[in-house]
Parts: sequence; structure tokens; C-alpha cells
Amino acid sequence: MGIKTVYEDCDILVVGGGMGGTGAAYEARYWGRDLKIVVAEKANIDRSGAVAQGLYAINCYMGTQWGENNPEDHVRYARNDLMGLVREDLAFDMARHVDSAVHKFEEWGLPFMKNAETGRYLREGKWQIMIHGESFKPIVADAARKSADKIYNRIMVTHLLMDESRDNRVGGAVGFNCRTGDFHVFRAKAVIVAAGGASHIFKPRSVGEGMGRTWYAPWSSGSAYALSIQAGAKMTQMENRIVLARFKDGYGPVGAYFLHLKTYTQNAYGNEYETTWYEDTKAMVGEYIDHQPTPTCLRNHAFIQEMKAGRGPIYMVTTEAFQDPHLEEVGWENFLGMTVSQAVVWASQDIDPKYVNPELTTSEPYVMGSHATCSGAWCSGPEDLSPEEYFWGYNRMMTVDGLFGAGDAVGGTAHAFSSGSFTEGRLAAKAAVKYINDLKDEKISVTDKQVDDFKQAIYQPLDNYRIGSNEIVGGTVSPSYLLPIQGLQRLEKVMDEYVGGISVNYMTNDKMLERGIELLDIMEEDFEHIGAEDLHQLLRAWELKHRLLTSQSVAQHTLFREETRWPGYYYRGDHMKLDDENWHCLTLSRRDPETREWTMEKAPVYHIVD
Ligand SMILES: Cc1cc2nc3c(=O)[nH]c(=O)nc-3n(C[C@H](O)[C@H](O)[C@H](O)COP(=O)(O)OP(=O)(O)OC[C@H]3O[C@@H](n4cnc5c(N)ncnc54)[C@H](O)[C@@H]3O)c2cc1C
Repeated sequence: MGIKTVYEDCDILVVGGGMGGTGAAYEARYWGRDLKIVVAEKANIDRSGAVAQGLYAINCYMGTQWGENNPEDHVRYARNDLMGLVREDLAFDMARHVDSAVHKFEEWGLPFMKNAETGRYLREGKWQIMIHGESFKPIVADAARKSADKIYNRIMVTHLLMDESRDNRVGGAVGFNCRTGDFHVFRAKAVIVAAGGASHIFKPRSVGEGMGRTWYAPWSSGSAYALSIQAGAKMTQMENRIVLARFKDGYGPVGAYFLHLKTYTQNAYGNEYETTWYEDTKAMVGEYIDHQPTPTCLRNHAFIQEMKAGRGPIYMVTTEAFQDPHLEEVGWENFLGMTVSQAVVWASQDIDPKYVNPELTTSEPYVMGSHATCSGAWCSGPEDLSPEEYFWGYNRMMTVDGLFGAGDAVGGTAHAFSSGSFTEGRLAAKAAVKYINDLKDEKISVTDKQVDDFKQAIYQPLDNYRIGSNEIVGGTVSPSYLLPIQGLQRLEKVMDEYVGGISVNYMTNDKMLERGIELLDIMEEDFEHIGAEDLHQLLRAWELKHRLLTSQSVAQHTLFREETRWPGYYYRGDHMKLDDENWHCLTLSRRDPETREWTMEKAPVYHIVD
């Protein structure tokens, strides 16, 4: 094939050098002084992942040293926001360690805003602390670089390798360099997947000229889920997609506006609207509507209902706060550190928030395990906390031996955010080191055949294009291949129309889901004919495959859960109520790697914190 193969044998391979991955590399070195630690990253760890552009707030900090919050409080908060369903062992474990990660960030040079009176970190909200965070990612990347033996940037990891000497054990990963085209084979005793969440699986609101703008990072291609699913790992809560109320067209964040600037929302006629929908929501979810703070999905529900009632747009009232020059400055700076494009959109649409109240909208759905929802792999918890069903030997290990997760990859731990994802990377790495030490001299076996088969499959789209393009004389439509952009748009359309996207007001039902699943299966067949013009398109092709697998998982989970647990995130039209009697549980799936059949089951929710 004329493609160079680069082999790397190591102890721990970290896939994805975002927040979880950098935390994993750092901690792996602390516990595994003599181990060989390697990171494989699709972009460049200095500016990769959801924090690439920087952040303005660290959203998860307990402040236990000052008696502000305890880990139990955070578990209660996350549980409440997720309508009762989180993995409380994982959530508690993250919360009890997260402060120490934040203290490391400060030690490494991240500038924190301080409260002038108390000297403590400046709070934006109960859990959020404010930072000058443009440099956040390069700072954690530096810690990872100093810890790892080698960082491979520009490697798109496409598949995990399996150990052939023992059933259900990982053996490394393969991928390709998006710049040189080299084929990379990482043979590893343990793999930590930290490859981020999924955007662009549902049709986005911003299409055409705005297509690159999404709320979650556009380059988050669901790899954390797809890699794990392909290896046969169990997934949990994949139906728990997230929809965000954000500034329209730029997806600019609203947290600092609500919490720090004290701005508020109103409908087109200047009225508060959330109370209008109180009884309607109560009829669907019962007493959950009385919980404080109101779960995010229920606030979305009121927003969506108000729009459907014809009283949109919904506005954020900024014109009052922006009269204060300090708050005006904070309002703009909030975007400069994180979502510059929102400021640009406002400028281009003649919106000066000092004089004009900007519109909000609800986004298309995204899938993730670290922000305010908790989709991801079904992982073992820590031994001192987890009940039997949640514990199988090593913290954050998936149901495949030697395969660990962090950040968006791990299911059940909502509201981890940047600091919590980094912390999860640390926890996973500590456990991975123990796993390797327990293996002693046991070797991993990966045959050339396994590697060669993957090599053939990975580069096939280049051949499909080269051969198929000879059949056409112009244009982009070929009878023999599908381009990645065409495949992406097909995927987004199916997910949007059948699995509860924006064009159906987040509504779906069993029949829609069954048809959606059929169309996704057809797409899986068609993926064999995807054509890639160059290495960049090859990257796009494999990102599409990962998005497709993630989408199949989301659709299967959504079909399985016969209730509307999170109105405002999605609705099952055939089961419009929350049903605690039958569905106060977690959902689990496994896709058989051989047959590609999905198996679904329920798992208990244990309330460890009262
Ligand atoms: C718009 C937005 C706003 C946010 N605001 C805040 C905030 O204000 N405060 C806060 O604390 N948190 C915030 N977060 C959350 C925080 O960014 C995430 O929780 C965190 O980054 C998740 O960490 P992760 O390691 O799972 O994923 P990421 O940090 O996204 O890292 C994933 C990494 O994997 C790499 N990768 C992906 N696929 C592959 C592949 N196939 N092969 C190799 N590498 C791959 C990516 O390039 C990336 O480097 C925000 C997130 C977003 C998107």
C-alpha cells in the first residue's frame, strides 16, 4: 500500500489529550515512575478539545478548604439536575478530589480572579470560580508534556486493538497521522480513552455559512464513545443528550450573564414565562418541578413551550446590567476568553447588548458525559464507595479489561466540567497504573493480522475515491462513493427528524426511533463506500464513522427508555410522562463487536448520598 507503519509499544496509552487526557498523563507519571506513557491526540494538545479556546470559569470547585461546599453537596446538585439519575459513587469520587486539581492549575500559572475582601477564588456561582482562562489549555498541556514519554499530535485514533491472548482485554490502538498519512500502531497494556463528546450528530441550527459554529466543539466527533463501543464496552445513559439555551447564532455562554451580571430572560412581549408552564410541567414530571435549583431540562421545557405558543423570541435582558461599565466589560470579556464568535455575530447583526436585548435559542442536542449530562461508558467506581454492581476491580475501568475512561468518555458523572474531567483523568491513570502492576509480567498479544486488517480498512476511503472519481467528469456526486460531508448531512438529518432534533421540537416516539435506527443501519452499510480525496477527508471519514456509532447508540437508548425523563432535552410522544416506578434506573447497552447486535438492560440507581 506504500504507507509507512510506525510502531510504539508502551504501558499506558492515553487517547485524546484534552482535559481528561492531560490529567491522565500527569497522574500516570506520578504513580508509574518507570512506566512508558504515551499520548495520541488528533489535533495538538496545546489547543485541542473543548477547552481549546479557553474558558472564563472553572465550573466545578467545591471550596472545601473554606467550608463553601462538600462533595456530598455536589452529588445532590448533579442528581437533582439530572432528574435523579447519576452514578453517585463516581460523582462523589470526582467531587472529593476536584479541588486539588484546581489548586494544581493555580500552581502551574493559571490566573484566578480573587475576591478582594476574602482573598478566596471569586465565585461566579455556587460551583463556578472565575479565571482569566485563555491560557488554560496550554497550561495543562505543559503538565502532560512534562509527564509523558511521548506525545503524538495529529493522530486520529480510529480503533482500539484487542489482546488476543485473553478474552475481552484491550491491547492498544491504531490510527493515522492526518498530516503525513503514516499508519500508527500503539501496543499498550492499558488504554485510557479521553477523546471527548459529540457535536454534529444532530442537524445544527447554524447551517450553510454558519456550519462551523456549534455549541460543543465542532471537532468533538464522539470518538470516546465509538472507540469504546467498537471494542464491546457497555455504555450508559446515551439517551441523556443535552440541549442548551444559549445566545442565538453564536451559541455564546449564558452562565456569567445569569450568575454574575444578574441578567434575566423574558418573552417577546416583555413577560416572565417560566411560571406560565409550571402546571404543565408538573403534570409531566410531578414534584421534580419543585426542586431547587430547577433542573436545567425543565427550564428548557418552559422555553420550548413558550416558543411553540408563539410568544418568541426569548430575550436576555442585558440593557440594564450593561449600563454599569464594569459589568459591560465583563459581559464582552466573557466571550473573548471562550466564544469570540458570539461577539462577531452580534457585531455583524447590529446588536449592542447595552441598547438591544439579544435573543436566546435552544440548541440542537449534543452528547457528552462531563458537562451537564452524563452519557458515556459504564465504568467501575472506586472500591471504598461503590456497591457490587458498580465495582469490578479498578476505578474508571470500562467493562473491557485494561480499558479506562475519563471526562466525556465516562457515563454517569454529570457536572464534572473542565476541572472534573482533568480529575477523572487522574483517577483513571492511578487505577491504570495499579492494573499494570497487577499484570506483573503478563504480556499482551496483538497479531499482525489484526493490525493489517485495520490498516486495510482505515485507508480504504482513499482508494474508494481514487477509483470512483474516474467515473465522473465533474461535480461531487459519484455513483460509487459518498463524501464525508454528504454522509454527515445525511446522519444529521436522520438524527434530527427521527431521534428528536430541532426540526421536530425534540419530539420522537417508538415508531420514529425504529425507522431512524433502520436508516442508520443502512448508512453503516453505505459507509463501506465512503470516499476520501485526501488525508483531511480521511480524517473526516473516520470522524463520521465515530459519529454514526455514537448516533446508533443514542437511538437505541432512546428507544429503550419508555418515558420522558428529561422534557426540554427530548420527548417520547408515546410516553409523555416521567415514570419513576419503571424507569428510576440507568440504561445500559452493549454492541456485540462480531454481530453488531445491540443488547439493552437496566441497572439500578443507588443513592449513596442522602
Ligand atoms: C462550549 C463549551 C463551554 C464550556 N464551558 C465550560 C466552563 O465554562 N467551565 C468549565 O469548567 N468547563 C466548561 N466546559 C466543559 C469542558 O470543556 C469539558 O468538560 C472538558 O473539556 C471535557 O474533557 P474531555 O477530556 O472529556 O474532552 P476534551 O477536553 O474535549 O478533550 C478531548 C480530546 O480528544 C481529542 N480527540 C478526539 N477524538 C480523537 C481521536 N479519534 N483520536 C485522538 N484524539 C482525539 C480531541 O482533539 C481533544 O483533545 C465547556 C465545554 C464547551 C464545549
